[in-house]
Amino acid sequence: MLRFEKYVRPETPREAYELLQENRLATVIGGMMWLRLADRTVPLGIDLSRCGLDTIEETDDAWRIGAMVTLGQLERHERFAASTCGIFTEAVRDVVGTQFRNLATVGGSVWARMGFSDVVTAFLALDAEVELEGAGVMPIIPFTERGARNDLLTHVIVRKHRYQAAFASVRNAATDFSSLNAAAACWQGSWHVTVGARPKKATLLTGGERIPLRRDFSPAELDAVCELAEGLDYGSDLRGTAEWRRQVAPALIRRAVAAAAAKPCAEKEA
Ligand SMILES: Cc1cc2nc3c(=O)[nH]c(=O)nc-3n(C[C@H](O)[C@H](O)[C@H](O)COP(=O)(O)OP(=O)(O)OC[C@H]3O[C@@H](n4cnc5c(N)ncnc54)[C@H](O)[C@@H]3O)c2cc1C
Repeated sequence: MLRFEKYVRPETPREAYELLQENRLATVIGGMMWLRLADRTVPLGIDLSRCGLDTIEETDDAWRIGAMVTLGQLERHERFAASTCGIFTEAVRDVVGTQFRNLATVGGSVWARMGFSDVVTAFLALDAEVELEGAGVMPIIPFTERGARNDLLTHVIVRKHRYQAAFASVRNAATDFSSLNAAAACWQGSWHVTVGARPKKATLLTGGERIPLRRDFSPAELDAVCELAEGLDYGSDLRGTAEWRRQVAPALIRRAVAAAAAKPCAEKEA
């Protein structure tokens, strides 16, 4: 069981951040769905539920998603879904069940950067950034690779584009963790393809600083990306072997790209 010697509910992200700086052994509490599985005693629990981080804001060029927004809240947000071709809804629809998704948060999912995460795989394919109370705004890719220490994730920002986007995963059983997942999003003329649950954390394969895959790719160009996917670093666990993942990844990527390409481009103003 997880025990807190002291439990606080600060009113602002700044107050929460300062408490975290003063108490290096403190634990930030999001939806608590992962944390509750721990068996330890923590000197201080900092609950973010009163920090005003539970809203989804829309501006002319971006979505600003509060860390305490639940997976269910974002999944059911019709304008966000229309603006991102429903990729997030596709990514979380098999995450446990509705009640669970009404508690697990976007912030907890992105902060934890779990290898099996469907949420991280989907966000990585979009033009996304994370906003940290201490370190400020940074692109989601370096954050996913390296994380941040003793900070507080306050928002995930998704820039608006005329996306075509889709998510695909393989699960041994419905609602189990993904054995392998992939997402594909086309924006600013190029495809951003991610592969996750390798079981290492998700990585971007094309787009950004990786090799480009242009919007109107040739079959040979997609073949080259699939070959690259075979070369990723895979591991074995009880959900699949490294060799199985290596063989399935190209098919999953083709599936995600084909599904995304078949969708109409999202309107920037959904
Ligand atoms: C049984 C089970 C099945 C799951 N299946 C899936 C699945 O199939 N696909 C999938 O994508 N995910 C899955 N998840 C993960 C889940 O969706 C959430 O990502 C996870 O529970 C963390 O979110 P939370 O809000 O519960 O965070 P918490 O449990 O509250 O926190 C998780 C970690 O993040 C830290 N933290 C939380 N919020 C912040 C913040 N704003 N700033 C800084 N640190 C923070 C906490 O200190 C803790 O270390 C599963 C989880 C469980 C328990």
